[in-house]
Amino acid sequence: VNIQVRLRLNRYNLDGEPHIRADTEKCRACLHRACLAACPARCYLPHPENGVAFHYEHCLECGTCFLICDHGALKWHYPSGGCGVSYRFA
Ligand code: SF4
Repeated sequence: VNIQVRLRLNRYNLDGEPHIRADTEKCRACLHRACLAACPARCYLPHPENGVAFHYEHCLECGTCFLICDHGALKWHYPSGGCGVSYRFA
């Protein structure tokens, strides 16, 4: 079973607020934008004005983006209790 099929098994209970916030000024200044390649859920997409667009809805809460961002552009915390990802396994 490939990774896309496995990711579709997960369930998400969305929090009202994004649990990750990106500082667009710092993202614009970043040249490598490692988050685009590092996020396993592809929550980060290129954005022509802000450098990066972030969509938290399918976040796996792995913390990779927070660790890999060397510009300190991310504010990261876990979603509220009962919200966020519930992993399902095939
Ligand atoms: Fe992607 Fe993991 Fe960051 Fe969520 S915590 S946005 S899944 S890299």
